[in-house]
Amino acid sequence: MTNYDYDLFVIGGGSGGVRAARIAATHGARVAIAEEYRFGGTCVIRGCVPKKLLVYASRFHEEFEDAAGFGWTVPGKPTFSWQDLIAAKDKEITRLEAAYRSNLDKAGVEIFHERAEFSDPHTLRLITSGKTVTAGKILVATGGRANRVADIPGVEHTITSDEAFHLTELPQRVLINGGGYIGVEFAGIFAGLGAKVTMVNRSPKLLRGFDEDMRDAVMAAYRNQGIELITGVNFSRFEKTSNGIVGHIDNGTSIDADQIMLAVGRSPNVEGLGLDAAGVKVGEGNRILVDGEQRTSAPHIFAVGDVCDGPDLTPVAIREGHIFADREFAGQTRLADFKTIPTAVFSTPEIGTVGLTEDEARAKYTTLHIFKSSFRPMKATLSGGETKMVMKLIVDAASDRVVGCHLFGEAAAETVQAIAIAMRLGATKADFDQTMALHPSAAEELVTMSDFETVTAAAAE
Ligand code: NDP
Repeated sequence: MTNYDYDLFVIGGGSGGVRAARIAATHGARVAIAEEYRFGGTCVIRGCVPKKLLVYASRFHEEFEDAAGFGWTVPGKPTFSWQDLIAAKDKEITRLEAAYRSNLDKAGVEIFHERAEFSDPHTLRLITSGKTVTAGKILVATGGRANRVADIPGVEHTITSDEAFHLTELPQRVLINGGGYIGVEFAGIFAGLGAKVTMVNRSPKLLRGFDEDMRDAVMAAYRNQGIELITGVNFSRFEKTSNGIVGHIDNGTSIDADQIMLAVGRSPNVEGLGLDAAGVKVGEGNRILVDGEQRTSAPHIFAVGDVCDGPDLTPVAIREGHIFADREFAGQTRLADFKTIPTAVFSTPEIGTVGLTEDEARAKYTTLHIFKSSFRPMKATLSGGETKMVMKLIVDAASDRVVGCHLFGEAAAETVQAIAIAMRLGATKADFDQTMALHPSAAEELVTMSDFETVTAAAAE
């Protein structure tokens, strides 16, 4: 190892790369990291963090309306400044980025603010300075980027979530293509801030992969809020006009908008990295292939986060990076537990989910008990809100273990984080039932639900 310039060189300063670099350095390794854009990666710079700030902003709209039911009079019509929101968001992102850099500095990691590419399995070329460096171990943590459907004419006039965070003004008419996490979240943001939003999705329902009851709930809530959902269609072309942009759909209709945002998945950042020169193999969708220890086909090169297979979620990348550094530079042998991963979609209302969907559970277990509850949250009794909360527990009848929990409604994300602990510990429905309810709360429903539907494997066929 000592023949190399560094024990570890990390390519990519996002959540996974920064964590790995920092932990390896604290274990005494000589570490360097290269980042070509801004430290913090997708999550901090153009993903989870700015998105959640925009989600908060979008929810005040409903709060102002609800306030009247509780005796408040909000004088005049509340006004909103997109420019002020974006400036405040940018300030916070700059602060976080500086914190990421300073944590690396404090840990003694050498920082290269430029792109790194492989020249050979142990050598990297730094593109701006022209330097060449060598490392005993190399971690690829380059993340991913938003897809553009390249073969649709006029696609260059559309934006992705990257640009949405930096629009100079709030578009009044927004057309969103894609009904995954990003499409659904941005539809809620723009609608909450007052835009007319239309979502176009190629398949009949939003949020593929989520429990059907959650998909139905979010679609009903969005329609109720005035978000137009056009499903089962694709765009055939985009046309720039003097008045904005027109999305032409393959069913012969077209929609005028100020902005069209594509949210049609993300792809790993591997182009131009020189993975071939390094002997690193990629699999489906160009994702780097890794084993259970994040090791690529080159034994001293590792990869974490969105650039390799697995869920594109920040906590997963961080955990992968941390465990990699502990194992490779401190001899610790723990493996990550990726069986119970809670996740949320920050729609309004939001979805929080952990464990198996009903369809996945039907495929895995012989008999299930499905507990479902749909109710008007207490706040709505005075505010007059129509959207119901939905809670669902999926229980394996044989063991009584809760194998799936799906929540739709206020604070679903916060609630499901705590449920994930119980499920990871193997909680049974009887454990839930024996837990004292916290009253009055929506979450108490999780420990009081008693009606269930029995589903057998035969029913799934
Ligand atoms: P998703 O994979 O979640 O959704 C992609 C959407 O685009 C789907 O509706 C899909 O349709 C549609 N689509 C895919 N390809 C095409 C195409 N060629 N033409 C038309 N439509 C297409 O991707 P996102 O971009 O929303 O998010 C990427 C990832 O980022 C997520 O998987 C998630 O892991 C992560 N993320 C996590 C968040 C969180 O934790 N809250 C927030 C944001 C992102 P169909 O339904 O037919 O598949």
